[in-house]
Amino acid sequence: MNNVKTIGILGGGQLGRMLSVAASRLGLKTHIFEPSANPPAGHVADVVTTASYDDEGALKAFAASVDVITFEFENIPTSALDLLESVRPIHPPRAALATSQDRLTEKNFLQDLGLQTAPFADVQNADDLAQAIETIGTPAILKTRQMGYDGKGQARIMSPADADTALADMAGASSILEGFVTFSHEVSVIGARSADGAISCFDPGENVHVNGILRTTTVPAKLTPSQRTDAVLIAARILNALDYVGVMGLELFVTPQGLIVNEIAPRVHNSGHWTQNGCAIDQFEQHIRAVAGWPLGDGSRHSDVTMENLIGDDMDKLPELAKTDAAIHLYGKTDVKAGRKMGHVNHVKKSA
Ligand code: AMP
Repeated sequence: MNNVKTIGILGGGQLGRMLSVAASRLGLKTHIFEPSANPPAGHVADVVTTASYDDEGALKAFAASVDVITFEFENIPTSALDLLESVRPIHPPRAALATSQDRLTEKNFLQDLGLQTAPFADVQNADDLAQAIETIGTPAILKTRQMGYDGKGQARIMSPADADTALADMAGASSILEGFVTFSHEVSVIGARSADGAISCFDPGENVHVNGILRTTTVPAKLTPSQRTDAVLIAARILNALDYVGVMGLELFVTPQGLIVNEIAPRVHNSGHWTQNGCAIDQFEQHIRAVAGWPLGDGSRHSDVTMENLIGDDMDKLPELAKTDAAIHLYGKTDVKAGRKMGHVNHVKKSA
């Protein structure tokens, strides 16, 4: 194998927490870098650095204390990444982060690979938006190019009359207009690629969003055999193009015209949490294996699973859920807030 003993993780949320648990099962240590105090990952990691992403001293000390660096969220400042990368390798690669941090770059990258996306146009001002609406038509969605997540930074445009309000919602940020895709359902593929280029994809999951936030993921997804193959091939093509190392989440719209790529997340993904109870090796272990330079493990699905997020007041259901066979995963967050992901449960049924 190799000499990786400690993995540095940028971000201390639930994804960093579950990555730390997976690392510790493999006898590896984790060091979390997180600006806010008492992060969920801090409860299970070996070391936590509480510092901001512009604290050069803290970044250098963090990098020097680990063998390899990974991350659990995309919006890491470039200056911090530059400094960290001068000390230790970062996986997944910077190219994957740069691609997913900017919706316009991401869409161009996907189109250059010959993959289908929603029609899109760059929007810097009201003139661009008027032109884009004329070309793309309505309904459409205006999205900030950067820093959007869980449906934030998005405005629907049902008719050209909505343009001004939508543009005001972007608060001056560079945006793209996306044509509205009429899809029957949404699926995602969680794919992994190891340092030596081997690829393993988990079975695609079917996602249900409510108010832009993931509610449930169900496996198996409703897909024909050829759609299932296509979904995995799309993921593999992206992983190879980025010379990727680690786990990636890929969101797809299922349409009569085929699979349309919505977005790429260069990290473990909420829609992959079902793997914790549906596979021998889950997405978190697969990611740790890849970034630590290990071979990928067996991610084949042994059970049917529905993953249900516990968001905000959903925590009130916990006493009842605890009486069922559901596998419970809580993130150790103390304050319950509306829209905050507090945990998830996996409802497992053995595959026939
Ligand atoms: P996003 O943050 O881009 O993943 O968008 C959040 C959710 O909004 C998606 O999961 C879809 O349900 C919906 N959505 C985003 N973009 C489009 C689109 N171009 N057409 C239809 N629905 C969309």
